[in-house]
Formats: sequence, C-alpha cells, structure tokens
Amino acid sequence: MPLMINQVSKIEKEYSVIVAGAGPVGCVIAERLASQLGWKVLLVDKRAHIAGNCFDTRHESGVLIHRYGPHYFRSNKIDLVNYLSNFTKWIPGNYIVKSSVNNDLYPFPINLLTLRQFFKQPDLNAEQAEALLASRREHFPNPANSEEFVLSRVGRELYEAFYLGYTLKQWNIHPRDLAPSVCGRIPVRLNTDERYVDHEYQLTPAEGFTNMFTNMVSHPNIDVMLETDFETLRHSLKPGIATVYTGQIDEYFDFKLGKLPWRSLQFEFKEEPTEYTQPCVQINYPNEHGYTRTVEIKHVTGQKHPHTVISYEYPTAEGDPYYPIPMEANAALYDRYKALAEEETANNNVYFCGRLAEYKYFNTDEVIERALHTFNLIKNRYEH
Ligand SMILES: Cc1cc2nc3c(=O)[nH]c(=O)nc-3n(C[C@H](O)[C@H](O)[C@H](O)COP(=O)(O)OP(=O)(O)OC[C@H]3O[C@@H](n4cnc5c(N)ncnc54)[C@H](O)[C@@H]3O)c2cc1C
Repeated sequence: MPLMINQVSKIEKEYSVIVAGAGPVGCVIAERLASQLGWKVLLVDKRAHIAGNCFDTRHESGVLIHRYGPHYFRSNKIDLVNYLSNFTKWIPGNYIVKSSVNNDLYPFPINLLTLRQFFKQPDLNAEQAEALLASRREHFPNPANSEEFVLSRVGRELYEAFYLGYTLKQWNIHPRDLAPSVCGRIPVRLNTDERYVDHEYQLTPAEGFTNMFTNMVSHPNIDVMLETDFETLRHSLKPGIATVYTGQIDEYFDFKLGKLPWRSLQFEFKEEPTEYTQPCVQINYPNEHGYTRTVEIKHVTGQKHPHTVISYEYPTAEGDPYYPIPMEANAALYDRYKALAEEETANNNVYFCGRLAEYKYFNTDEVIERALHTFNLIKNRYEH
C-alpha cells in the first residue's frame, strides 16, 4: 500500500461519516465528503486493501495483475473522466478479446471479421453479412430470455459456438432461464471494429486502479481502516451525521428476508517465462476447459517485463460475491430489502450505494456515477 494513505489501526477522532467498504463507491463518496464538505470520514474495509474489485497489485514476479478479474475502464461521459483525472493520468485502453472456437481464435464480440472467418467468406461485406444473419435468425419478435434474444439476433450456429457454452459455464444456468439482457449486453457489429466495447473513452489509469483510488482517499479528513468488518463497529461507533454502506444489503439486515444469491469466481495466476503468451488481453473459452477466460493484463497495463502472468477464471457457486444472478425471484427479494433500506435512510441516515448494496452489476464508470449521485443526496440533505 502506498504511504500517502492515512491508515489507522485505532479510532481516535469523532467522525461525521462512516463509509463501509473502500471500493470505488466508498472511495469516491469519502473523497467528496472530505474535500467538498470538509467532513471527517472513517473509511472501513474488511479486505487488506482499498479499491474493491478494481484492486490491482504486483504478482510475486513483479507483473502488475488485476486481482479480481480484468477491469476495462470505459465511459461516454467526459465529466466523469475529468473527475477521475484529478487522481490519475491515463493510457489508452487496449481492450481486445478473442474467442477460442473449434481450435481457432475469433474476434469477439462478433463483428464482420468474425463472420468472414466463421462462415469462410473472406470477402463478405456489411450488406452481405446482414443478409447472411437475416437468413439465419430465428423468429422471436419479443425475446423472453437470453437464448431467444441471441437466436433472434445471430441464429443458432453462432449462438451454439460463441454464447451457449460460455453462458452455461459462467452462470451454471441455461440461457433460456436468463433475462434477455444478460447476453443482450454484448454488441454484434457489421464493421471491422475489434474493440471489446463501444464507449467513447476507453482508458486505463497509467499507474493502475489502486494508485488512482489511493490518491483519491489521501486526504487529511479521511482515515482508512483495513481488515475491519463494519459489523464490528456498527453498534459501538456512531457517526455524527451519516453512514454510507456499500456492503451486501441482505447482510446489513441480518439476512432477515433470506439470502440474495451471487455468482462467484476463483482466480488462478500463472507466471510464464516469456514476455507475452496471448495475442490479446482476453481469450474466451466457451466450449473447452473448466475456466471461462484467460487474461494477460500486460496488454492493457503496457508494463514492460520479461515475464508475464496469465489469470484463469473459474466460475463457482461459493465464494466472494461478484455477480448478482439476474433472475426475477432475486430482483423481487432485492426490492423487499430496498424498501427496508429506504426506511433506514429516512430514519437513521444510512445511505446504500454500489454493486453489493444495490444488488446490481455496475461497471466502474456507472458505479462512480451512482456514488456521485449519492454524495449529492447527502450534500443536499445536510448542507445549509
Ligand atoms: C470479475 C469482474 C470483472 C469486472 N470487470 C469490469 C470491467 O472490465 N470494467 C468495469 O468498468 N467494471 C468491471 N467490473 C465491475 C467493477 O468491479 C465494479 O463496478 C466496482 O468494483 C463496484 O464498486 P463498489 O464500490 O460498488 O463495490 P466493490 O468494488 O465490490 O467494493 C466493495 C468493498 O466493500 C467491502 N465490504 C463489503 N462489506 C463490508 C463490510 N461489512 N465491512 C467492511 N467492508 C466491506 C468489500 O471488501 C469491498 O472492498 C468487474 C467486476 C467483476 C466482479
């Protein structure tokens, strides 16, 4: 951990606010409250580091790795990028993904190059590609699930080659039992744009995410307490004004309505004595191996190092909560917790924000927007 951070092992001050969780949301809200309102903030995290799932760190080889999966920062909002630029310089995001299908690597998401390669038609143009897809699409005017959505968009061959196996591995749920949006998030392009995402700003913090969030919370009004579960402080330490909670919403309410399910991942990191082993940062394996993807983050960080580290991602049912499971029953249970959270905000000044607290998969840019929104709610309520 860099030295600038004001890390404490014992609480000595009166705090206006306690922020539970030092992920992107906790760091942003702490920074805004400290720098804009001059409030004293205690930022607590149960892990041994800040930055939440955006945490990056050096592997024992010295290679910078993304500890909780690759993080590709992207946004369409210049104001958001400008805000973060107070805490980091940037390098361009080099986000290229390929899918391993039938022992070949194909550009993914599907684009014109994928279609040319897959259908062995090297001269296919956009118009012909559209006609080809039209001839293969299955008719689902209102797709009710991810399978119908993909079949209605690209047809069965591409669905079975690129989507079905990956989705089964990732969720252990058949695409026909998942909401259309789960596979619907992935674009299909009829041009040769090979980038993973479409956003206007695709950037990586030049010194990494942990460095950016460390700069963010390095403020004299912010104390950081690591390896501390908020539960252990909650009843003994009362903040002067408010609490911001970014942990799991059901845990806050002692799971009294039941447990919200999450999909987890296990990461395995392997060092290789060569500069690079993959042609791009991410390779998806929809149909082979127990892992879903291999990631060589050096393609993104741009680090020069004679060795490389590959991470292998194995989806699991047990473990840290990474992905809320997008099914109707879970959304309904979350809504009941949300009603309790709203009462808690009104009566006890506890604000719930972020991926775990809102039971929603947010990308980092989206969650930072949520955090800025929550900061504004707090500011408007208490600032006179
Ligand atoms: C595998 C994976 C890949 C991703 N890839 C991308 C990507 O490519 N691009 C992108 O933009 N986004 C990506 N994301 C999303 C990104 O990680 C999230 O948007 C972001 O981390 C959410 O921030 P948060 O603060 O809400 O939650 P988190 O990052 O989860 O942080 C919450 C923090 O709260 C702490 N905490 C929880 N409960 C307690 C408690 N009781 N007491 C103390 N501390 C507590 C946790 O330890 C954690 O550090 C990815 C996420 C995952 C899981």
